Amino acid sequence: MRENDIRPRVYAADQRVAMLQDVGRLLTRRDEFVDVGCSACDSRQRVARWAKFGLDYWECSDCQTVYISPRPSPAVLEWFYQGSVNYAYWNKHIFPASEAARREKIFVPRVNRFLELCARHGTRAGTVLEVGAAFGTFCQELNSRKVFKRVVAVEPTPDLAQHCRSLGVEVIEKPFETVTFSREDRFDAVVAFEVIEHLFCPEEFLRRSNSVLSENGLLVVTCPNAQGFEIATLGCLSDSVDAEHLNYFHPMSLARLLARCGFDLVEMQTPGQLDAELVRKKVLSGDLSLDGQAWLRRVLIDQWETCGSSFQRFLAQSGLSSHMWICAKKSGAAAQAP
Ligand SMILES: [Zn+2]
Repeated sequence: MRENDIRPRVYAADQRVAMLQDVGRLLTRRDEFVDVGCSACDSRQRVARWAKFGLDYWECSDCQTVYISPRPSPAVLEWFYQGSVNYAYWNKHIFPASEAARREKIFVPRVNRFLELCARHGTRAGTVLEVGAAFGTFCQELNSRKVFKRVVAVEPTPDLAQHCRSLGVEVIEKPFETVTFSREDRFDAVVAFEVIEHLFCPEEFLRRSNSVLSENGLLVVTCPNAQGFEIATLGCLSDSVDAEHLNYFHPMSLARLLARCGFDLVEMQTPGQLDAELVRKKVLSGDLSLDGQAWLRRVLIDQWETCGSSFQRFLAQSGLSSHMWICAKKSGAAAQAP
């Protein structure tokens, strides 16, 4: 997979303008931002890590999670996403132009990986809940496999929820935290792709996910890995470091938060495919200098054609890519996995 497949470069400049407009909007409500502790362990011990977009990114001294504080309150976040210029631009231009490529390069492999995890960890083929389903592509693709009896999407944005319905996906059009599930409504798997990094309080989300899972149920969460190659190398030059991403976990810190929320980690993977390419692009654009880093220059520039893809495979296989998957079960249930 190449970045251009899923984010066509013809839209890059306009999308950046839209993103910066959003940052400007967000900062107009800065006086409503809230000071918080570490997203993973709640510690207040921290050191300044980055400053970008007028926001402060701290690194927790106890668990090395990076997080924005002060951060937009839940009410400000709701207002922000409802009026997002950037999301409107994505919905109008980038998603339609890249829909087929995204399905093939992102959603089909995502469903495959999810089904492999379910098979490996003995998940019942009953019900799946996806939180933050967006266009509903994952749910639609999962439905097409006919493995699970019922797939439910939670998507609070009206246009996106409507899009889910148009694909035949069952959707709950409310924020996850306000949905009332009946006692019988317990899910065999809860999944959230690229959601947790946006949340004001990831702990609340995980506790709620725990409460709606069935006894041997599986939680699958994906997010950026702050200790992966791309983010660790680029720091705040990384486009993953943005105003919307409030939480930057790494595998161990997310495992720690999961443990606090009543989960046992069962599997962690970093299947990211774009680290090397994204760092290389920052070098080629002149944003990142590799002066004094001859070895990295050799891999990313001089010998890119021969080394690039094997270097990326090494990162992914070694837990060193900047995109991670975490798979967990309710505490006490993990031991029952085959
Ligand atoms: Zn921490």
